[in-house]
Amino acid sequence: PYSELFKAGELVFAEGDAPTCAYLIEAGRIEISTTQLGEPRLLAELGPGMLLGEMAVLDDSTRTASARALTDCRLIPIDKAQFAERLAHADPVVRALLMSQLTRYRSALARLTGEADGFDAAPTMQPDDAYALDKIRLESDLRAALDRKELEVRLQPIEEIVSGRIAGYEALVRWQHPERGAVSPAEFIRLAEETSLIVPIGDYVLARVCDMLVELRERGRKPLPFIAANLSGRQIDDPGLVQRILDLLHARDLPPDKLKLEVTESLVMDHARIGDLIAHCHSVGMPVALDDFGTGYSNLGPLLTLNFDQIKLDASFIKALDRPRGVAMVGVIVGMARALDCDLVAEGVETREQREILHRLGCRYAQGWLVGKPLSLGDVLEH
Ligand code: C2E
Ligand code: CA
Ligand code: CA
Ligand code: CA
Repeated sequence: PYSELFKAGELVFAEGDAPTCAYLIEAGRIEISTTQLGEPRLLAELGPGMLLGEMAVLDDSTRTASARALTDCRLIPIDKAQFAERLAHADPVVRALLMSQLTRYRSALARLTGEADGFDAAPTMQPDDAYALDKIRLESDLRAALDRKELEVRLQPIEEIVSGRIAGYEALVRWQHPERGAVSPAEFIRLAEETSLIVPIGDYVLARVCDMLVELRERGRKPLPFIAANLSGRQIDDPGLVQRILDLLHARDLPPDKLKLEVTESLVMDHARIGDLIAHCHSVGMPVALDDFGTGYSNLGPLLTLNFDQIKLDASFIKALDRPRGVAMVGVIVGMARALDCDLVAEGVETREQREILHRLGCRYAQGWLVGKPLSLGDVLEH
């Protein structure tokens, strides 16, 4: 890589300079110092492999210290824009943490050098700091909600179209936030996926699903309906997942084919991992469904290699049933599912017309507001 040479004793940058770049030290030693009440004060000595001058670059403020080569040095300059771009794309929470640390370090430095000029004032808020802090708040609320068992699992009925019978349910998690009201699962699941919080949430949902199967059995529901649970990427990457589910099922003496797992197409990017999951599930008799089929960009790829038991056709295709093109495409997908020996579930069925067309085309299952909204277990048991 391109590098700059500095002779022993030469100044790399001086306190008060406007920053243009940071440096990676390839060779040599650098002394960092600042002026304290007119006297130079040594802050650090840096060597090969260390970053130099990155602070001023991160928040684009003037250098608060000087850097001088102690020996002959070779430094790789890192352009300010290169940092700015990475920072702009970084996780906003990480960015907020970094900026908070930076502000605190600078104010400590200013106090040290006896020139508490402005750095002790409240740190300047970046436009997206508020968003990041809100995210931190929401995440800690979510953690607390999980501990207090405030997450509710609802069941949305799935109908076998030919018989009109409810064959099973999809488990959909709900969070009623004390101040914000209902938070959409799409939002808080995404938040939980950014940290490992999704793992205990996922386990909680799976345990609730198993408990609900027990209640349905105790109420004498025959045949026992299945319940499908959504899996997120982190759960799929968790090698202990299937065994933990089996333990939950065995402890309640439940047959494994009553718990279905749904994975979305966007997660199916790592085909090898999903292939392993499906093989593991099939070896113990647990079915796996491909969720949201028809969204995303590699629609047929997963079906080429992965042996799903069920395909859930995304609601956008059901909306398109009011046009001949949509009817034609759903008809083809029904045929494809049949050829692959997969059951097809139509999602987002809202009207009788849609169900009628699906019936005519030979789609096996329907899910959506026409069949029923996501219900509490109490409401399900009353039906
Ligand atoms: P999804 O798996 O595609 O779930 C179906 C979504 O469509 C649900 O939204 C459901 O309430 C909604 N829906 C059902 N029928 C209709 C209909 O007829 N019309 C319309 N317009 N919408 C309908 P919800 O409950 O908001 O869930 C959103 C997403 O959050 C889910 O999409 C799923 O990806 C995720 N999710 C929900 N619960 C869990 C969970 O326990 N674990 C994980 N990992 N993800 C979950
Ligand atoms: Ca789903
Ligand atoms: Ca879906
Ligand atoms: Ca099959």
